[in-house]
Formats: sequence, C-alpha cells, structure tokens
Amino acid sequence: MKFADCFAHIGKDPLVDAFEPAKGSTFPPAQPQRMQSTKLDIPFQQWAPGAFISRSDRPLCLYVHIPFCRHRCLFCPFYRYATHAGFSAEYAELLLKEIALTADALGKERHQRRVDAVYFGGGTPSDLSGTDLAAVIESLRSQFSIDSETEITVEGRIRGFTSEKVEAWRKAGANRVSIGLQSTDTAFRRRLGRLADRKEILETLHAAKNSGVILVADLIYGLPGQTSEMIAEDIRFLAEESPVDGLDLYALKAFADSPLLQQIDRGRLPPLPGTVDRAQLFRRASVDLDQFGFEHFTRQHWRREPGERSLYNRLAKGDSDILPFGSAAGGRIGPITLMQEPTMESYRKQVLANEKPVHARSRSQPISEREQFAQTLSHAVEHRQLPPLKAWPKTPNLALEDLILNWRYAGLLTAVPECCHTPISLSSAGSYWALHLRDLALKACFPES
Ligand code: SF4
Repeated sequence: MKFADCFAHIGKDPLVDAFEPAKGSTFPPAQPQRMQSTKLDIPFQQWAPGAFISRSDRPLCLYVHIPFCRHRCLFCPFYRYATHAGFSAEYAELLLKEIALTADALGKERHQRRVDAVYFGGGTPSDLSGTDLAAVIESLRSQFSIDSETEITVEGRIRGFTSEKVEAWRKAGANRVSIGLQSTDTAFRRRLGRLADRKEILETLHAAKNSGVILVADLIYGLPGQTSEMIAEDIRFLAEESPVDGLDLYALKAFADSPLLQQIDRGRLPPLPGTVDRAQLFRRASVDLDQFGFEHFTRQHWRREPGERSLYNRLAKGDSDILPFGSAAGGRIGPITLMQEPTMESYRKQVLANEKPVHARSRSQPISEREQFAQTLSHAVEHRQLPPLKAWPKTPNLALEDLILNWRYAGLLTAVPECCHTPISLSSAGSYWALHLRDLALKACFPES
C-alpha cells in the first residue's frame, strides 16, 4: 500500500464516503495484528510466579470462561457446548479446583497484586446455577486480592436469568451485569434464535438492576433485515423503559459458513445490509444515544451513569495482565500469551491431573518498533483517539501532518490538536472507522510491512 492510499476521500458523509470497503467486506475492514511467539514448554508453576510478580505495576484482570449455552444464536461464533443436566455443578467444581491450583502455583506473592477487574464471559455464565457461580466468585475473592473497588461482571442472557441468581452473585461480590440482547424486537430476535420477548427483557433488566448492580446491555447493528427504525426503537426502549446504565453497540461480524449466512443463502433471512444501510444503522444509533443522554465512552460503549466504568473491557485492550480460568479462556502475563485447553475433555483431564490447563507462548523480545506502535494504536482507538503525533514513529513520511489534516477534513477527527503532545480525538464517524484508521496509521509509518 502506498502512503497516498492512506488518505480518506472527502465527501458529504464520512460514514459512507471516507473509505472504499474491501471487496466482499460487510463491515469496516480491519487487519488482525499478528506477533511472533514461541511455545513455553515448562509447567505454569515454574515460569508464572516470577512473570506475575515482575508485572506488579500493571493492572490485573481475571477472566473466567463459561463455554455453555442453552442453544446457539444464529449470528454467534462463540457457541461451544449445549447446557445439560448436571453441567453447572460439574463445571463449577472444575473451576474451583483450577482456581486453587492457580493460587498454589503463584504462591503467597500473588496477594501483592490487587485485582482491578473480574469478568465472567462465555458462552452464557448466567446458565450456571446461582449457588455454583456464587461459589466461584467467592473462591476467587478468597484466593486473590479483590476489594470493593474491583469490578466483577457477569454476562448473561434473558432466558434462564432469575432474580434469585443475580441476588446470589451480588451477595458473593459481583457488582456489574452485562445482558446480551442484540435487539429488543421480539419477532426479529426469534428469527435470530433469541427466544425471550420484550416483557421478559424488561422484567430481567429490572430484576438485575433492583439487586443493586451496574447494568449494561448490548445491541448489534448490521443484522439481516434490521432497519434504522428498529434500532431507534431499541434505543428508545432501553433509554426510556429500562434501567440500563450503559450500552455496548457492536457491528455484526458475519463469519464464513456461520448458520446466519447459511440461512441467508437458503432465502430464510433477508440479505445483510449493504455499506450505506449499515452506516445508517450506526448513525441512527449513535445520534439517538446522544439525544437520550448517553456518553460515547469508548469505541463500542456508551454510558449514562458515571459509576459504569466498563473497566474490564478498557483494561483488556491496554497493557494489563489477564489470568484465564475455564476451558477455552484466553489471557496474558506481559509478553506471554495464555490459551486454556480448548475442549471440555482436555480441560477436565488436565484439571483432574492437578495441572493448570494452559498453553503459554512468549512473544519474541524485544518487540519491534512496529509492534509497539500497533499496540499503542490499538489502545488509543479503543478510547476513541489516535496517539499524539509525538508518539508516532520517526518515519520517512514527512507528510504525516497532511494525513491528519486530511482525516480531519474528511470528518473522522473532531479537531487537529495544536500541540504534538495532545492525543487526536476521533469523531463519531472516526469511531465507526477506528480499526481501519489504526491499520492505515500503521501502514503510513511502516509502508514496507
Ligand atoms: S448465548 Fe451468547 S455465546 Fe451463546 S450462542 Fe448466543 S450469543 Fe453465542
């Protein structure tokens, strides 16, 4: 790619005109960042304590993965196992054992690091029984330095969620609940494999909020057949009738061979919205969220309650450590990336053999200037920014300022900072194109890569 290709087209509507979508792409293109790494062939208890303590000045998160759901939603790439009788007690028991194994391996020094955030994701954590999930939360609290400021989030969905469950999690220490909605339109939800109706949605959201937790919900834009009116009504409903404190808004990622694309191919669902319609959905959602008093807090998150910190999601995008628990959970300690045993069979086997069920890979050190800048960019765009120009690598491209000016004129930045030490803020359209801007900034500085 040439430097000139990094410039945006200055048109009437930056959401639609700024860049040409990659052929066949249905959402703003973004290239995954790949890093060189080598497998660590020594057991966790040998390398982890030193690596863990050496990072005591960095934020720490715990991530617990629950790879079970009642059934598969059509659009979802994360579905692994169907819930079945007895799954909750068995999985919770394995998690309790793994938490104890991890604590033993890290030793007493683990208490020197305070935990900033704990996240139960999946899958569907709310499908575990209230007492089983509460026992896991309590175990983490007893083994790690978790205090009242630690954000503890449980992800859930409407079906299977009860006020007794949320009360049990809250008593155990959870203080934030994130409910996956995707849409609040009953008929539309059912076509996508989400069965609960609006009445159940409202009852669940109020039950969760009444327990005293911070409550967030998520929506998806770009679903087949979704219209601007539908997403506007989702936002009105959540803003006016529900007690949510925050909202995640994700672009649909349509994965090849997903059940969603298969249903579209068979004519059972309408086609995916095109580039213009997708942009209109984002625009309508972000304008309406603004009008209902929500602050566009991070790239994909809005909030209307300052107590809603979205801490785990923010830390996970920065230079924090994440200790993983559960089958198929991912994490990292500094330059070491962690991936837990991917199947329940291999996970169970390792835990029952008293081993931390994890594979570790160490990134090549020192990391290149390009990789360092890629990390800086990734962190900045999550906060709806580009790094200050002073932080951009020295580059043969003397025209970086011209590029920034172009992106500003194209409507992707709110202003051009006068000082090269000031971060560059993305506009709403810039947030829509944020991952593409990240990739272009990297190309502009490292044209040969
Ligand atoms: S409940 Fe969540 S994780 Fe499970 S299939 Fe549906 S969207 Fe995916």
